Amino acid sequence: MRAFLPQYNLQRPVSLAEGLQLLHDQPGRFRPFAGGTDLMVLFNAGKLPAGDFLDISRFEELKGIEVSDSEVRLGALVTYQEILHHPVLQDEFPNLVQAAFWTGAAAIQNRGTLGGNAANASPAADTPPALLSYGARIELVSGQGRRSLDYSSFHLDYKKTALRPDELIAALIVPRPTQPRFHYYRKVGTRKAQAISKVCLAACADGGRVRLGFGAVAPVPAACPQLSDVLTRLGRNPLQAEVRQALHQEVTPIDDIRSNREYRRRVAENLLDQMWSEYLKWSP
Ligand SMILES: Cc1cc2nc3c(=O)[nH]c(=O)nc-3n(C[C@H](O)[C@H](O)[C@H](O)COP(=O)(O)OP(=O)(O)OC[C@H]3O[C@@H](n4cnc5c(N)ncnc54)[C@H](O)[C@@H]3O)c2cc1C
Repeated sequence: MRAFLPQYNLQRPVSLAEGLQLLHDQPGRFRPFAGGTDLMVLFNAGKLPAGDFLDISRFEELKGIEVSDSEVRLGALVTYQEILHHPVLQDEFPNLVQAAFWTGAAAIQNRGTLGGNAANASPAADTPPALLSYGARIELVSGQGRRSLDYSSFHLDYKKTALRPDELIAALIVPRPTQPRFHYYRKVGTRKAQAISKVCLAACADGGRVRLGFGAVAPVPAACPQLSDVLTRLGRNPLQAEVRQALHQEVTPIDDIRSNREYRRRVAENLLDQMWSEYLKWSP
């Protein structure tokens, strides 16, 4: 049943400093509200706990895509539409653009934010695998300042992140390439569009180093560091048995309403095979 609106309080400060002060003064009281595309689904289903929300959508400091010589900084409020149409992202970070393209449809792409996708921490979310494949960092901000983490250490467990109650995600940062690199992104869902991932794989090979991001195969978006190392050592040779072993150690899917474990393991293997055969054909 739909929730009862008067039980919800939405604070709408205009500046980041004001918002951070509220989070600092009463840590854990306010839940950030960005595009609302995850929160409103919970609200409509009557599953959003009543309480206080902090509308962060007007914080200019969390908006925009900044490109420097060495990196691209995507503010937490950057929408999928902005990602889709950004020329540097199209050229250098196609996995992220693909992830934005396959996320929901136009309405969600106009409102949903990159920071919201990370904070919501669904293991089946589509941008985390792309961010992992590019070795992203995440910047968190609180009244006490900013800190930056490897994105691969942000997701701690199912729906648990390193975010403290007084912090907001400020930005996701991806280093720019210094040489040609191979990219792969594929999402497998029930339909081609408007479907949550059953399995997703993003990969990037950069100067021989392979980075992976798997979605929906573990409690968190999975960088699979052992598997990435095995692939990096393999160079441009065909896949070998130790690759499968490493995959099965780090890819530990569950049964749920969308798929069962065995199907997900098979699809993860197939995506890895497909990615690798494309990599072997790729010429820089
Ligand atoms: C119809 C539909 C289809 C969808 N399809 C897909 C899909 O294909 N793939 C996919 O990955 N997702 C999909 N989603 C999920 C959703 O659109 C994304 O997760 C979206 O990016 C969330 O961003 P938001 O700004 O709307 O987050 P909100 O709903 O505002 O917030 C989500 C969570 O993140 C927290 N939060 C938001 N911003 C911050 C911040 N800066 N700092 C700290 N915490 C923050 C909120 O407190 C809340 O817990 C779909 C949703 C719908 C309704």
